Amino acid sequence: PRRDRPATVDYRGHLADGTAVALLANVGEPADAGRARSLGAAGVGLLRTEFLFGDRLTPPTLDEQVAAYAEVFAAFPGGRVVVRTLDAGSDKPLPYLTAGVETNPALGVRGLRAMRTDPELLDTQLSAVAEAARRSHTEVWTMAPMIATPAEAAEFVARARAHGLARVGAMVEVPSAALLADDLLAVVDFVSVGTNDLTQYTYAADRLVGALAALNDPWLPAVLRLIQMTGDAGRRLGKPVGVCGEAAADPLLALVLVGLGVTSLSATARMLPAVAAVLGSADQALCARLADIALRAGDPAAARRGVREAAAEAI
Ligand code: PEP
Ligand code: MG
Repeated sequence: PRRDRPATVDYRGHLADGTAVALLANVGEPADAGRARSLGAAGVGLLRTEFLFGDRLTPPTLDEQVAAYAEVFAAFPGGRVVVRTLDAGSDKPLPYLTAGVETNPALGVRGLRAMRTDPELLDTQLSAVAEAARRSHTEVWTMAPMIATPAEAAEFVARARAHGLARVGAMVEVPSAALLADDLLAVVDFVSVGTNDLTQYTYAADRLVGALAALNDPWLPAVLRLIQMTGDAGRRLGKPVGVCGEAAADPLLALVLVGLGVTSLSATARMLPAVAAVLGSADQALCARLADIALRAGDPAAARRGVREAAAEAI
């Protein structure tokens, strides 16, 4: 194989013991979908829809949106695509929706909170996703970003269902959502943990500030505990718990996440082959053991070291 082209994912969607763990791609624009598919991704675990809304003065029309979503869905016939509704604000500002001056934009009117200020924008997006789904042979899941309360999730679910969307979920990227995972999962069909924001909010450390990088590490114990709480709730309620933050791109952490109860992983497509390689040769018992080591470690360096050593012995 040529060195500048990553190997294709060689993974059949389950661990060595048959435990199903879907390996999906994060997609930020339609062109990524084709790349993800050619790398062997089984679907899209996070379609960031911001690409449609940025760099313009007015929102995209319904038809523009239908065409863009349909293009992504067409790359995965028979597969799954998880669409995230617009996540504007904070690190993703949008002039026509989040123009107000905020002292703390990361704690401000962003994500679903911003969409609730313009319900028509949300309805148009949900309607476009539903229409594109009807035109495709793809299993379309829809989720909202920045959910902080089960009530917000319930409101989103009702709205999405009114548009005919069948599988509706919430991102877990605010600590309150993880702490209330049972109540949250009671009202949604699935959740997906966004470890980028979950880490930033758990350790109160801006994800864009390089000087705080040590506090933006998904191996930090409080982040792992919150993911464990979410995974446990998913098992109790029998509902899928994905991870779509960059944590899923780290092969060793991917094993830990599965041990914490995560049932699907989604990361940048070029990182998938490395994650696939470890998933296919691990089993649930090993993942549980690695999760236990990581949780007990106390800090990221010790967690990485302990997990690396235990995994090297077993795989
Ligand atoms: C996250 O927060 O982990 C996430 C997946 O969403 P984004 O990086 O787009 O905020
Ligand atoms: Mg996020």
